[in-house]
Amino acid sequence: MLAGMTAIDITSFPHLFAPLDLGFCTLPNRVLMGSMHTGLEDHARDFGKLAEYFAARARGGIGLMVTGGFSPNIAGWLKPFSSRLSSRWQIRAHRRITGAVHAAGGRICLQILHAGRYGFHPLSVAPSAIKSPITPFTPRALSGRGVERTIHAFARCAKLARDAGYDGVEIMGSEGYLINQFLAERSNQRSDRWGGSAENRMCFPVEIVRRTREMVGRNFIIIYRLSMLDLVDRAQAWDEIVALAKQVEAAGATLINSGIGWHEARIPTIVTSVPRAAFTWVTRRMKEQVRIPLITTNRINLPEVAEDVLARGDADMVSMARPLLADPEWVAKARSGRGALINPCIACNQACLDHVFENKRASCLMNPRACYETELVDAPVVRKKRFAVVGAGPAGLAAATTLAQRGHVVTLYEQSDEIGGQFNLAKRIPGKEEFSEPMRYWGNLLDELGVEVRLGVRADAATLQAGSFDAVVIATGVTPRDPRIPGQDHPMVMGYHAAVLGTRTIGKRVAIIGAGGIGFDVAEFLTQDAPSPTTDIARWTREWGVDTALEHRGGLDKPEAEASPREVWLLQRTPGRPGKRLNKTTGWVHRAALKAKGVKMLGGVRYEKIDDAGLHVSIDGSPQTLSVDNVVICAGQESNRALADELQAPGVAVHVIGGADVAAELDAKRAIAQATRLAANL
Ligand code: NAP
Ligand code: SF4
Repeated sequence: MLAGMTAIDITSFPHLFAPLDLGFCTLPNRVLMGSMHTGLEDHARDFGKLAEYFAARARGGIGLMVTGGFSPNIAGWLKPFSSRLSSRWQIRAHRRITGAVHAAGGRICLQILHAGRYGFHPLSVAPSAIKSPITPFTPRALSGRGVERTIHAFARCAKLARDAGYDGVEIMGSEGYLINQFLAERSNQRSDRWGGSAENRMCFPVEIVRRTREMVGRNFIIIYRLSMLDLVDRAQAWDEIVALAKQVEAAGATLINSGIGWHEARIPTIVTSVPRAAFTWVTRRMKEQVRIPLITTNRINLPEVAEDVLARGDADMVSMARPLLADPEWVAKARSGRGALINPCIACNQACLDHVFENKRASCLMNPRACYETELVDAPVVRKKRFAVVGAGPAGLAAATTLAQRGHVVTLYEQSDEIGGQFNLAKRIPGKEEFSEPMRYWGNLLDELGVEVRLGVRADAATLQAGSFDAVVIATGVTPRDPRIPGQDHPMVMGYHAAVLGTRTIGKRVAIIGAGGIGFDVAEFLTQDAPSPTTDIARWTREWGVDTALEHRGGLDKPEAEASPREVWLLQRTPGRPGKRLNKTTGWVHRAALKAKGVKMLGGVRYEKIDDAGLHVSIDGSPQTLSVDNVVICAGQESNRALADELQAPGVAVHVIGGADVAAELDAKRAIAQATRLAANL
């Protein structure tokens, strides 16, 4: 808890902090921590860590939380030996989680998730033996008895959850998992009572809810996660979704949560370029149809956004997962008028969903303690020390704030006139506006903690030595790599800083040298007219082809990409398609967005020279001249560690972090985690 956090100020967010009466219990506020797999669910030996992860968030005041998905049987596994609750002997381990949450004053539901054809294992089952486009295994079609057994497994899992002390369950009916597969013709081609017509396809989820309610009795929360927009073809029509919602309500659900998009959908639903609260309109449409409370979701990250959604009546509750990973005290800070100190989720997916898809434990780029609550802990402070931190990029900011939170005296030097480092470039990229939020957070936190911030000061070795610091933390970042291309001093050539900061005018035909994260960012920057569609939901849904009129199956419409103001080439020397090394859950969005803008993405390029005629290259041995107006160099980075070397010579205690330490494939996730770990132990 932050110092002095006692004043209750809920007047700014009256809807967010209105209690919600569910008949047999009252939730203290309208925040649901939505289900997110962390990787800690898969082994009972990690349940102590999972318990503390949830307990921290319960202490932070969240009204109701939902665990990551647990399958109700082996066939429903997400991957071999992943999280499952199907036997009584498993209950004991779960009591650690429910006990910790209840002791902290919270409530928690267990999510029951049967992966169906998304199961990454050879035992997967589905309504029909149709492989999904995102998994290598063809599922076995469930027999009629198999369907019955699966329904029973859901209800039994709910009963076990109740016996383990959970306050309820969430039945996962969206995102393209088994229940959703039953509901769509694309994956259900059965001709028995579980398929054939929309009415038959609905029987599976409705029976699950009905028998679950029968099994658990009345005073137990059942959330049904309803796929309101499938965003794939041959999927549900809106009137079918409404009919299902009514039947789920009648079958005994307490709350309906909104599901947006199957995992195989090719429309982004949660990445940072999706406008905030971009899908709450669909929950609002459903609100006209059912009486039980509805939960809305996707890209709601700050209290103001949540309050607006609730105030305009789009939903009764908001679900957030990643923002509560980023800041376990999100609710408590909003409630006490300290929302300016909320550590923001920037929807980058880099440490949460990308980790889960790589079979690694989830965490958070902005908060490396997430899911490491029992491991990344501050060492006891024996003596208050004085530290200098040089460089106010993400690494330096994380180090300075962590040191100050532990009670040390910190001076932070930054040679430019603003904090944020490379994030100040990122925030200018259309679709990455969210990257300005960390600077708001860090700025307020530096003030709160009394860190002395010296902007516009280039700290040199003599000053730092004279300062008698106990240690100096060097976070001086990176400098752009020199690609040494003949003719690169031609006036048409510029670095990515100049391109993105707008200090140079850029022509209509542009070649980008280097197709890493920054090359892709620059391509987005050059192919979008300001303001970006991220700030305009209607424009964004048109661009990606989301059917807001709900007239077409799956909620799909024809995408209407806006023309690029420039012709752009994005180049790399490595053979093959650029962008393969971008992150798993976001790379495809960047590639699709640039493709829609007509960007020519080329690999296997050799840069020969630059002259008045343009950029001369050879591609697979054949020479070509790209007659461009400008060339932007995005050829990676090199560490900027001269100051560290200078200080180490006279024996000053120096710690080098972030890009100054390792520039190769530098990212903010690594920089912030390294800085936080160091500062927690100095
Ligand atoms: P990067 O990802 O390492 O990419 C550097 C690019 O430059 C590569 O395409 C590389 O391809 C090329 N290159 C390397 N040496 C070169 C040389 N001597 N001459 C010409 N080309 C050369 O670095 P970055 O783009 O600067 O990004 C830095 C980091 O910031 C990223 O790794 C990422 O973690 C983070 N970031 C991520 C995103 C995102 O995910 N959207 C956005 C911005 C930044 P070839 O060697 O094949 O030519
Ligand atoms: Fe949000 Fe990125 Fe943290 Fe995930 S890693 S919770 S998307 S800030």
